[in-house]
Amino acid sequence: MVIGAGQAGLSVSFYLQRLGLEPGQDFVVLDRGPSTGGAWQSRWEALRIGSAHRINDLPGMDALGVSFETADRALPARDVVADYYRQYEGHYNLQVRRPVDVKRVFNRGAELVVGLDNEEVTTEIVVNATGTWGSPFVPWYPGLNDFEGRHVHTTDYRSAAEFEGQSVVVVGGGTSAIGFLLELENVASDLTWVTRRPIEYLDGGELNLEAGAAAVAKQDEAARAGRALPSIVSGTGIPRTRRIQSGIDRGLLVAKPMFSAIEPHGVRWDDGTFQEADVIVWSTGFRPELRHLAPLKLREKEGGVSVGNGSAWKDPRIFFAGYGPQASTIGANRAGRQIARQVIATLSNLG
Ligand code: FAD
Repeated sequence: MVIGAGQAGLSVSFYLQRLGLEPGQDFVVLDRGPSTGGAWQSRWEALRIGSAHRINDLPGMDALGVSFETADRALPARDVVADYYRQYEGHYNLQVRRPVDVKRVFNRGAELVVGLDNEEVTTEIVVNATGTWGSPFVPWYPGLNDFEGRHVHTTDYRSAAEFEGQSVVVVGGGTSAIGFLLELENVASDLTWVTRRPIEYLDGGELNLEAGAAAVAKQDEAARAGRALPSIVSGTGIPRTRRIQSGIDRGLLVAKPMFSAIEPHGVRWDDGTFQEADVIVWSTGFRPELRHLAPLKLREKEGGVSVGNGSAWKDPRIFFAGYGPQASTIGANRAGRQIARQVIATLSNLG
């Protein structure tokens, strides 16, 4: 059972099929989203192919005659990804079942059971490819719940128009925060950017999510040790594109340090400075979406799940695709190949 039909789940499915398993019969892919595209289908309209980081093609996508490399950079990434994934699922006949929400995975004696809305299904192996989009993270600050304005996480952001004439504080040092600031510049009445750390800009136009070998290694180490996963961008920095450089030059992309408290009508720093706010936009990242696995008790006391060679140390029947160091489209592809091979090996051990 593969849970999730994003880049990671589709990539695993491709390789499972290539290694001889029949989709819909030997393995089943479930996804709770209404349509194709994984998390991309829910991303905001203004995120274009050209403003996303590089989106890597799925394995075997060349057979369809499409590629993200040649996609129109001005189109919304969500539409292009949803379209290409739809073609891909059709071409390889992956028979993804949606919308199917996996509520919980648990043991019943020796059986591994997957609980859906109205049904329970047994399986030998679970490949968890559920990404992070469903598990937005907002850090706690004093007064968080007293704020009388609106909290908006990256996952809630739809378009700049809804912030027209409002005073907005954007929190976070990643590309989503920067993208929102660029969009809101002439829309919000007032725009403030705060980050926990000063931004480290990289010279060169494109962020290769895996180029920061140290950042990936940190993630891998945390995943193996069962610790909560650090953010990838905090380790790789932000590419200094022309658009970003010009935002820095005109004073838009200049971050203040983090505020220390939230008040009903704004945010306050340690030195007493106050900024009024109608909205706080939290571009503060995500955590792996693992709630449905809670009954398996895979979490370590350090907060994460110990994953080595693709599966949980505590239960080698549970694989993780797109987890930790694999949380990019290229990482998810690589995970697909490795995990599919290990799934086959595990199945043959089970007889
Ligand atoms: P997802 O695409 O999140 O797929 C997981 C799927 O699992 C979803 O379809 C979801 O519906 C399903 N699911 C979750 N829980 C359940 C459940 N309980 N039951 C059933 N189904 C479930 N990476 C890049 O390489 N390039 C980029 O440009 C890039 N831009 C990004 C921009 C943003 C704003 C964010 C947040 C991330 C970005 N990433 C980018 C990283 C991105 O997350 C990965 O690239 C990749 O798309 C993740 O694929 P995935 O398959 O792991 O997860």
